[in-house]
Amino acid sequence: MPFSRIADSIGASATLALNAEAARLRAAGEPVIHLGGGEPKSRAPESAVTAGIAMLETGEVRYSPASGTPEMKDAVVAYTERFYGRKPERTQVLASAGCKQAIMVALIALVDPGDEVVYPVPYWVSYPDMVRLTGGVPVEVRAADGSCQPTLDEMAAACGPRTKAILLNSPNNPSGGVFDQDFMRGMVKLCEERGIHLLMDDIYHRLVFDGRQAIHGWDFTDRDLDDTPLVVLNGVSKMYAMTGFRIGWAVGPRALIKAMGNIQSHQTGGPSTLAQKAAVASIHGQQDSVDELRVTLEKNRDVLLGLVREIPGLKVERPQGTFYCFADFSAFDKDCARLAAYLLDKVQVVTVPGVEFGMPGYLRLSYCGPVEDAREGARRIAWALDKNGPAEYRVGDRVFTR
Ligand code: GLU
Repeated sequence: MPFSRIADSIGASATLALNAEAARLRAAGEPVIHLGGGEPKSRAPESAVTAGIAMLETGEVRYSPASGTPEMKDAVVAYTERFYGRKPERTQVLASAGCKQAIMVALIALVDPGDEVVYPVPYWVSYPDMVRLTGGVPVEVRAADGSCQPTLDEMAAACGPRTKAILLNSPNNPSGGVFDQDFMRGMVKLCEERGIHLLMDDIYHRLVFDGRQAIHGWDFTDRDLDDTPLVVLNGVSKMYAMTGFRIGWAVGPRALIKAMGNIQSHQTGGPSTLAQKAAVASIHGQQDSVDELRVTLEKNRDVLLGLVREIPGLKVERPQGTFYCFADFSAFDKDCARLAAYLLDKVQVVTVPGVEFGMPGYLRLSYCGPVEDAREGARRIAWALDKNGPAEYRVGDRVFTR
């Protein structure tokens, strides 16, 4: 029996599949280094843990309103006021099962079959299939200069009469790049003038390095939240190291938020109340863990970058945020999926092929794990790519040979 056209048009998330593969190898006792991961390994904030346990102990974990609990919405209101300088109403807030679901329901609410959604290359791995799940058409914008950041003009030229939304992720997964003020100002202007929704995937907005701050779309408009087509998407996963809680949110025009809530009411019926309780506590609680995480990630970046930059032929930009570095390995193998498979097979290092983000020839290397992993992973990669190097590489009693 055939499946639907939509089911046939999409594949599994490469990042999640690699997480599963790394976990399987580790469980089998293999000395695998997971540079493919996309989640911080620190503990969730104590406030979140305590609040979750307290709720669980009541033995009463009931349904959530489809668009989130009132206290979760209030927490997002407070968060938005504190970190974006805007104070939305509860009706302009939707809580979802992760930022991923918030993006997905926004797309379902906006896109009809054949409509287009525009985003820059490199893009987060799920964007194309998320657009396809709506029956929409993904439109990828590639920088003519080969860099990881298309220009404003390149973005504008890709928008046509069927463009319903532009998706931007800054800091960017996988490049770690941050859009500058002129670019963001231009994107907001373009979207307001043409009535295109600007979906800002801000999931890494507090993981920005070198003393910088993330730039937010709302900074470039005086309009009320209901009158600008800007939607901010965020969540607790990365900054609070709460990936498995699956709590994200959207803040935007209330009519769109209402439509998104209606859609969600027939999907999950609202995110877990237990997870929302923990998320609320993380938002209202001490924020030190976010700063500690950012500092740790910045150090990890420096270690990984320092080592990979010593590999002759490899090209990489300095990531300004996130916990990824996106390097051009095409001097070694233009087929990055084959190269990733080689590194896994030869030295047990998991990476994500750049083709999953729209840039063949690249590999994404994560530094969200322990710094020793970043160091050891980079060393193994350097050895595996150095055809004239030592014949073997030892890790404890494990010997990798050519
Ligand atoms: N966003 C992370 C990544 O890119 C997590 C995995 C996912 O949801 O795809 O690795």
